[in-house]
Amino acid sequence: MSARNTVVGSKQSGSKGPQLRVGLIGDPVAHSFSPRLQQPALDALGIPATYELWRTPAEQLLVRIRALCQQGYLGANVTIPYKESVLPLLDVVDPLAAQIGAVNTIVNRDDYLHGYNTDAPGLLRALHEHGLGCLQAEGMISLKGYTAVLLGAGGAARGAAFALASSGIERLVILNRSLERAQLLAALIQKSYECPVFSLSDPNFLIPHSSSIIINATSVGLHEEVSPLPADVLARFNADTFVYDMIYNPIQTNLLLQARTMELRAANGLSMLLHQGALAFELWTNQSAPLEIMRAALMR
Ligand code: NDP
Repeated sequence: MSARNTVVGSKQSGSKGPQLRVGLIGDPVAHSFSPRLQQPALDALGIPATYELWRTPAEQLLVRIRALCQQGYLGANVTIPYKESVLPLLDVVDPLAAQIGAVNTIVNRDDYLHGYNTDAPGLLRALHEHGLGCLQAEGMISLKGYTAVLLGAGGAARGAAFALASSGIERLVILNRSLERAQLLAALIQKSYECPVFSLSDPNFLIPHSSSIIINATSVGLHEEVSPLPADVLARFNADTFVYDMIYNPIQTNLLLQARTMELRAANGLSMLLHQGALAFELWTNQSAPLEIMRAALMR
């Protein structure tokens, strides 16, 4: 039986199907906010499913993934360190996820496992929610006229770079600790963009353009009160600059504090977490995600 092919049990229909399962695959997973986000959404729509944490050591990854084909499994989220390594274990990979080279959502559809990346469109939805860009046909978000300054070249930055390029952004600049890694990412994006790269330790030649969006996709600020960008570099940016930090725990990183002190608009990664989760929910259930319920659950 397919766990998902049609809309799964809803409050409206009052259907009492079998208990369904969905969960997070990664190692570690205990810190994750995803159950907090997904379970209230499943409950609100009367979907008889539980969102579980599936801590998976590397040697159990294949077994864990294939178990998703079993009856009653809607699919899964995937987190560190498996977003890249799950790709060859899936039956079908969505073109955007294949391009990014990372999957964060798996859907069991007719016993075939389909992989998606909802981090990338989740970031664009988050930026739009913070008042940037405009909504176009089929939910596409245009960031035409903006310059994106992307800090990082890891998995999250890679998704962000493809998402930003697809949004029609004017200019994309990449800064990373490892310049080589930034150059590799730029080379992928450069098919459609001139994409200058800088080392994070030497950002002095960074030209501040108007309508800039600075996005932190490094883990700098996650464990220590440090900023990936020196305050004097940030201070050179125009007053219309928006600073987005993908980190959501702590809720205010050093970068965000610096930006707010300079009276720049700024937001943390909770909105991206919300939107990637809502998109994953829609893929599993074929129903619109109850966004406000998910948002309230996340803020609690
Ligand atoms: P990766 O491990 O793939 O990449 C880490 C990045 O941080 C690399 O660019 C790395 O640079 C850089 N970095 C790490 N340590 C340092 C340091 N000491 N100094 C300078 N740069 C450093 O991680 P992810 O891309 O998966 O995640 C990045 C961040 O994004 C994390 O904080 C994560 O929590 C957040 N995130 C948030 C999401 C959301 O929904 N809000 C979703 C996904 C991620 P180098 O290449 O030189 O090693």
